[in-house]
Amino acid sequence: MQEILTMGVDIGSSASKCIIMRNGTEIVAQSLFAVGAGTSGPEKSIAEVLRLYGGARSAIRWVCATGYGRHSLKEANKEVSELSCHAKGANYLFPGVKTVIDIGGQDVKALHMDGQGRLLNFVMNDKCAAGTGRFLDVMSRVLETRIDELAALGAQSQKRVTISSTCTVFSESEVISHLANNETIPDIINGIHKSVASRIAGLAKRVGIEQPVIMTGGVAKNFEVVRYVSQELGAPIKTSPLSQYNGAIGAAIYAFEACSALLASDAPLSGTHL
Ligand code: ADP
Repeated sequence: MQEILTMGVDIGSSASKCIIMRNGTEIVAQSLFAVGAGTSGPEKSIAEVLRLYGGARSAIRWVCATGYGRHSLKEANKEVSELSCHAKGANYLFPGVKTVIDIGGQDVKALHMDGQGRLLNFVMNDKCAAGTGRFLDVMSRVLETRIDELAALGAQSQKRVTISSTCTVFSESEVISHLANNETIPDIINGIHKSVASRIAGLAKRVGIEQPVIMTGGVAKNFEVVRYVSQELGAPIKTSPLSQYNGAIGAAIYAFEACSALLASDAPLSGTHL
């Protein structure tokens, strides 16, 4: 079989992710920049994934863009919606998955799948940042911690501290007042994790939870959020080290499918704009 290399680019609201795949099955290189649509993130992540791949740019046959900023990627041969790419990526990472909870920088999506890779139904949050990565980004800034430290710090909590507001702005004020009352950072973070998890679980329940359940997106790297969502749903949740690349993986597979269909039909295959 002829080798077909494709690239998937996921331009999110908070991060740009790139994946190069061989024949839609094997990941050859990956890159991530923690800035998304409207920034230099997409350009940098494409340059980085090509550097890691190390071969000729001309060997990449097709590029598919997804995510919030997908319409502005001049290198793309094709654009596919985030929902379709997330469904495709999830079934690659966890074949047979039935529920996908994706938590990115500004949205939360819950996907109900048929176990064969097809999307049956979905729900998404409204414009509100509560329950998203943005909420955690804002809180980590106030607490002067890094986003990747939150889970380990929160796990050290000894005392229950409640964040009662669901609004990001009011929650930020609550966090500041907890700090002023000498509550510890781990206890406050634990309260933040519970608040985020309860918003996420509330939304996910609306789609109907069927196992196996997975969590994707950058927030899936926060094992405390995953643990609390799992508790609230009463179902185990699996994650992958590639969770944040889920959409880019789906895009690379869509690129492979489109490219192979063109090659099979002998239609001319336009080059990429890499
Ligand atoms: P988008 O596609 O909307 O840009 P992502 O799925 O890339 O979103 O997720 C971005 C979010 O992931 C950030 O807002 C941040 O809160 C969270 N995040 C990123 N890295 C980590 C990490 N190491 N640990 C916990 N959360 C993280």
